[in-house]
Amino acid sequence: MYDSHVHTPLCKHASGAPAEYVAAARERGLAGLVFTDHNPMPAWFDPESRMPEEQLPLYIRLIEQARAEAPEGFYVGLGLEADFHPGTQAYVRQQLEAHPYDYVIGSVHFIGAWPFDHPNFKDEFDRRDRLEIYADYYALVYAATESGLFDAIGHLDLPKKFGHIPPEEAWDLVEGVLGAIKAADLALDVNTAGWRKPVGEVYPSPAILKRAAELGIPVVLGSDAHQPQEVGWRFGDAVEALLEAGYREAWVFKDRKPEAYPLERA
Ligand code: ZN
Ligand code: FE
Ligand code: FE
Ligand code: ZN
Repeated sequence: MYDSHVHTPLCKHASGAPAEYVAAARERGLAGLVFTDHNPMPAWFDPESRMPEEQLPLYIRLIEQARAEAPEGFYVGLGLEADFHPGTQAYVRQQLEAHPYDYVIGSVHFIGAWPFDHPNFKDEFDRRDRLEIYADYYALVYAATESGLFDAIGHLDLPKKFGHIPPEEAWDLVEGVLGAIKAADLALDVNTAGWRKPVGEVYPSPAILKRAAELGIPVVLGSDAHQPQEVGWRFGDAVEALLEAGYREAWVFKDRKPEAYPLERA
């Protein structure tokens, strides 16, 4: 198994050196790790939660060093969790073309100027209609699938983070976006961080995973670790959830190409 979604302290809200993440992954018996730190964005976009552009070469060097120091046969991938935000596509495209990455997750963390997954601003959920939030969010995810920038969509039902689960009427939106993911040949980030958050559920939900399995959408396991202890977080439960949904394989990206491996109970 591979953990394909972990961060580094360069994003200013994570701790632990890359080597510590590698050591934690080996302790949990993982076959590899893909670093996907928050990408640099234009300087006006959320500078507190990411490395500045000038540090991107340092990030690449740190991951290449971790790869060089990892034991033989242990995979260390270089990736990014890239924000999708309307208007920044050209910036991100240039960034992704400038260096060969193994894996790029496209994540929507903002609805307009609202960082809806930031705990400091969760009051906003009480001011907006729940269905409207999901409609706004999935419209952005839809645009992300059409951008051609990414390999996978990050934490597909992220607005549920603090417990604001989608109303039933949001299912049509999910269907639409899963169709777009399939059409664009994208994978899904199956993100166990949801089990560390108030919602207490994996991203995406078991119902979404079941539909994604029917559509044949590849899944990529990730812990979204922001500290070494979170590497491989509840992967046993994730494997159960995926088997239950109908999956028999998971995928890992190398050189931006997906590779399948069998899902096995530990
Ligand atoms: Zn983060
Ligand atoms: Fe994220
Ligand atoms: Fe992340
Ligand atoms: Zn994330």
